[in-house]
Amino acid sequence: MKKIVFASIICLSIYSCGGDSKTTETKTAADMNPPFDKYKEQFIENLWKAYPGWASSQGYHKYDSILIVPNEEARTKELTFVKANLDSLKLFDINGLSDKNKTDYYMIENQLKSTAWSINELKSYEWNPSEYNVSGAFAEILNGNYDSLDIRLRNFYLKMSNIPAFYEAAKKNIKNPTIEHTQLAIDQNLGGISVFEVDLQNALNKSNFDEGEKKSIVSAAKTAATAIKDFTEWLQKMDNKTPRSFRLGAELYAKKFEFDIQSGYSAAEIYEKALSRKKELHEKMFELANKLWDKHLNKADKPADKLSLIKQVINKISEKHVKPEEFQTAIEKQMPVLIDFIKQKDLIYIDPSKPLVVRKEPDYMAGVAGASISAPGPYDKNGNTYYNVGSLAGWDKDRAESYLREYNYYILQILNIHEAIPGHYTQLVYSNQSPSLIKAIFGNGAMIEGWAVYTERMMLENGYENSDEMWLMYYKWNLRTTCNTILDYSVHTKEMSKEQALNLLTNEAFQQKAEAEGKWRRVSVTQVQLCSYFTGYTEIYDFREELKKQMGDQFKLKEFHEKFLSYGSAPVMYIKELMLAEMNKKSK
Ligand code: ZN
Ligand code: ZN
Repeated sequence: MKKIVFASIICLSIYSCGGDSKTTETKTAADMNPPFDKYKEQFIENLWKAYPGWASSQGYHKYDSILIVPNEEARTKELTFVKANLDSLKLFDINGLSDKNKTDYYMIENQLKSTAWSINELKSYEWNPSEYNVSGAFAEILNGNYDSLDIRLRNFYLKMSNIPAFYEAAKKNIKNPTIEHTQLAIDQNLGGISVFEVDLQNALNKSNFDEGEKKSIVSAAKTAATAIKDFTEWLQKMDNKTPRSFRLGAELYAKKFEFDIQSGYSAAEIYEKALSRKKELHEKMFELANKLWDKHLNKADKPADKLSLIKQVINKISEKHVKPEEFQTAIEKQMPVLIDFIKQKDLIYIDPSKPLVVRKEPDYMAGVAGASISAPGPYDKNGNTYYNVGSLAGWDKDRAESYLREYNYYILQILNIHEAIPGHYTQLVYSNQSPSLIKAIFGNGAMIEGWAVYTERMMLENGYENSDEMWLMYYKWNLRTTCNTILDYSVHTKEMSKEQALNLLTNEAFQQKAEAEGKWRRVSVTQVQLCSYFTGYTEIYDFREELKKQMGDQFKLKEFHEKFLSYGSAPVMYIKELMLAEMNKKSK
C-alpha cells in the first residue's frame, strides 16, 4: 500500500514539472480546450435557435415568440442540425480535452445521436399524440417574472400565430397512435385551454395595453383555443382500427435505455439486477420483521405467508409519525442533524456558506405536498436553492393520516437524505463548483437520481438512526425503486399485464392500491424513465464496492464521494472511466 502512495507523489511532481516545458510531453495531444469551449458556446446558441421552446424552459428568453410547426420540414432541419454538429465534434481530438470537456463532448454527442434516432427509428411523433400540446409553454410565459408583463404578453401574442398550423401538422403526423397516449393528449389539451381562455384574460386585465390591442390578442386566443378543441375532437373521432401498443418492445426499449440512461449496463442486465435485489430485499425484510414481530404486535400469531408478515409489521411501525401541523418544522429540524452526522462520520464536505433554504411550498406548485428541491436554472446563477415542503393545512383527517403514515418517522428521514443532505442538494452544490452549461442542460438523470438513492443506503450503513425498524422501512423504500425498474422493463418488453403489475406493486412492494394504480398509468405513457433511479444507484454502489476491493485500506469514503461529485451531473459510466484512468495514472 505504501508503494502506491509513494508512486503517486513521484508522478505528481513529474506531471507538474512537465507542464512547464512542453517539449517533454510530445506524446500528449494538443490542447483542444480553447477551441472546444468556443464550439460549445456556438452550439448552445444554435441549439436554442433550433429549439425555442426548450430555450424558454431553461430560462433563455430570446426566442419566446417563436412556435415551431412540427412538420416534415422541421424534422429535416433538425437532422441537418444533428449532422452538422456531429461533423464538428469529429474535429476535436478527445485526448486533448480536459475531463470536464470530455464529458461535455460525450453528452453533446449522445444528445445529437438520440435526436436522430428519435426521428428515424422511435418516431413517437406518429404514435404519441400527447407530444402535441402547447399550453404548458404559454402558461410559463404568463407565470414567468423575467420580463415585464407587457413584453411577455407581446411574445405570447406572436407565438400564438402558429398554433393552428401546429395542430394541422400534428394531424398529418399522427398514424395509428396508441389508445393511452391518445386519451392523454385529449385530457391534457382540454385541460390546457384555460390558459388561453382564463389565465390570459387575467393577465390582460393587469397589462397596459389599450382596448384595441387587447381585442386582437383575445381574438387570436380564440382562434388558438378553437384549434386545440378541434384537435381533441379529431382525436376522439379518429378511425383508429389498428392502434399501436403502448408497449415499446424489446428492441426500441434497449436503444432508448442506452440514450436516456447512458449506463455501463444494458437494460436487460439492469432488469436482472433488479430481480435479484428484490429477492435479497424480501429476505432481509423477513428477517427483520420476524425479529420485530413480538415487540410491535404483542406476540400475536404470525401469519404463515412471509410477505403478509412483513406487511403487518410495516403497517404497525408506520404509525409512528409527526402531527400534521408539525410536518414542516420536523423537516427543518432534520437539516442540522444530518449535517452533524456527516461531519462526525467524515462522509463528505458540506459547504457551510451555501445553506439550503427550507420554505413552504409556493402556491403555484399546487398542493402535491411532499418535498422537492427547486434549483436555479442555468441562466439564473444567483438564485436560491429551495427545499419546498408541502403543507397539510386544510386536508381532511383521513387523508392527512394516510399521508403521514406513508411519510412516517423513518421514511421522512430517508426523504430528507434523498432530497436534501447529502442527496440532491449536496450534489447540486458540488456540480455548481464545476459549472458547465452543457451539464446543466443535458444533466444525466440516472446519475442525479442514482446519487440521491445511493446516499440513503450510505447514511444507514454508516450508522444513521441505526435500528431494525429504520432498516426495515429503508428496505421498503428501496423496494419501490427496485420494483419500478422491474415494472418498466416487464411492461414494455415482456407483456406484463395490468393485473400482474398491480400484484407486483401491492403484494411484493407493499404499496397502497391508489399508488399502484397511479404507477400503472405512468408506465403506460412513459418508457425507461422509471429505471433511472435504480440504474444510477446500482452503478454508483457497484463502482464503490469495486474500488474498495481494489484499494483496500487506501480507500477513503469521503475522498470517493468528493471526487465522484466533482465531475458534475455526467453519466456514471464516464465518471467511472475518468476516475479509474486517474487512479491508474497515479499508481503507475
Ligand atoms: Zn397516525
Ligand atoms: Zn430524487
